[in-house]
Amino acid sequence: MARYTGPVCRMCRRESASGAKPGEKVKLFLKGERCLSKKCAVERRTAAPGQKANVKNRPKVSEFGRQLREKQKMRRIYGVLERQFENYFHKASRRKGQTGAALLALLESRLDNVVYRLNLATSRAQARQLVRHRHFTVNGRRVNIPSMTMRKGDEIAVVEASRKSTVFLSLMEYAKGRRVPGWLEYNEQEVKARVLQAPARADIDTNVEEQLIVEYYSR
Ligand code: SF4
Repeated sequence: MARYTGPVCRMCRRESASGAKPGEKVKLFLKGERCLSKKCAVERRTAAPGQKANVKNRPKVSEFGRQLREKQKMRRIYGVLERQFENYFHKASRRKGQTGAALLALLESRLDNVVYRLNLATSRAQARQLVRHRHFTVNGRRVNIPSMTMRKGDEIAVVEASRKSTVFLSLMEYAKGRRVPGWLEYNEQEVKARVLQAPARADIDTNVEEQLIVEYYSR
């Protein structure tokens, strides 16, 4: 499946300048550790890409504009392209309960996101690459599909040989003591995880207003 390969910090700058409340910094956390440092582009300037800093008289954002920005924000956070995102939405709308929460749960259950949530990658982009390079097994089988949906009871592990690589030695160090969401169980010694249940809205700390996305697709 195709993915976006262009510059990513400009996405945060776009969301900070257009969608949020004036002055609010919107971080999509697309660059791992850099996002938490002073080098983060949003910390340095919040003007939209191509705009001068301190642009006054920001045009008022319409209701449609808010819905669009929220949809773009969620799509970019999870690294999903337009068509695939639309498919996720249609799948979510067929599920019982709230469509917005179901959409978030579907995106959260992607294998690349699970790897990221387990702190075995510093960003979802890195998680995606590690999965593509076949460093993980799901229920004992080696996999390379980042969009695979993880279900209750699935077991995710780092391939035995990969555990000794420099990349994984430092990632395993990075993961030590970090918080793992309640719907996942992580065994640090065995570098293995299990999905305990499907993620509920309360388990997901992604800062999006999913209701706006439902409204966007219900136009
Ligand atoms: Fe966004 Fe991270 Fe870039 Fe900051 S460093 S602008 S949070 S992607």
